Amino acid sequence: MTAANTTDAASLGEFALIDEFFRSLGARRGDVVVGVGDDGAVLAPPPGMQLVAVADTLVEGRHFPAGSPARSVGHRALAVNLSDIAAMGAEPAWALLAITLPRADAHWLAEVARGFDTLAQASGVALVGGDTTAGPLTVSVTVLGFVPTGAALRRGGAAPGDALFVSGPPGAAARGRDLEMAAAAAAVANSPFAGGDRATELRQRFLYPQPRLALGLALRGFASACIDVSDGLAGDAGKLAAASGCGVRIDVDALPLSAALLADAGRERAERFALTGGDDYELCFTVSPAQLAQIERQLPVAQFACRRIGELTTDGAVVAQRQGRRIELPVTGFDHFG
Ligand code: ADP
Ligand code: MG
Repeated sequence: MTAANTTDAASLGEFALIDEFFRSLGARRGDVVVGVGDDGAVLAPPPGMQLVAVADTLVEGRHFPAGSPARSVGHRALAVNLSDIAAMGAEPAWALLAITLPRADAHWLAEVARGFDTLAQASGVALVGGDTTAGPLTVSVTVLGFVPTGAALRRGGAAPGDALFVSGPPGAAARGRDLEMAAAAAAVANSPFAGGDRATELRQRFLYPQPRLALGLALRGFASACIDVSDGLAGDAGKLAAASGCGVRIDVDALPLSAALLADAGRERAERFALTGGDDYELCFTVSPAQLAQIERQLPVAQFACRRIGELTTDGAVVAQRQGRRIELPVTGFDHFG
């Protein structure tokens, strides 16, 4: 960095950088005995609870386009982890943040910290440690949370005949990711990107996913199985079904597609985004027939906006149907090594 009036965080050194940007992010929690600053955090889980641990990494150019807003990078790095915590029916408590930076830009770091901090505060999560190194831009977060002993939601546990639900409009984030990449490319080429409100709404879905933590808690003792949708609804529903020793049928007519996605992409492409797009960070879960009667009491529509989209089946297949007729599923799911 050349500007004399901005703090070059590299010149701050690693320790000053940690101190300035990462010392006290997120909620203040009484169960953090030792936080950032020692060799390790000391944490006091409540008695009777089991720990749930998750980790997820965002790599620039792979999980977000170069030039993504720094605040979104901080938000998403935590959000994708909180989504896993939600899928386990757990309550998040503590986070660790390992960040690898090509260069230390103070404004960029402050924005990452702000994005992380806002979501951490809202979710009751304290940042208790991490690591800071130089290298290609990568943000890796670990979150620890708890559930009452034995109460964690699992991917396995569903049975044939269980109803399949999704918590929000799938596909919008994937279309938003495409628009965000187009906008980033336009910025590099110094050409205008005409997006409009609809594109903005879709890009927000990608940049600022909202982890369904309250829903995860409401599903505890109620859902027979649960997974968060990160790699595409069809693929992730398939993982839930496989873990449960079942197949799954998705009724594409029932998919809660967002108006913005439908207007932007048209029905057919919107369905494809919804089934295979990924980056939704909604919850996909199953409810047994015996529990279905209770669904409105357990999941008030006004609060959770969950939609029934299919059913677990006895065969091992993942199938989609439209108006009762089976349709070909597009290639499903995202696989880094596929
Ligand atoms: P060590 O050399 O023992 O690994 P560090 O110097 O890397 O320790 O870290 C010092 C303290 O700062 C530790 O408590 C560590 O957890 C914390 N820390 C380092 N980087 C971050 C970060 N990006 N966010 C939060 N805490 C961090
Ligand atoms: Mg270290």
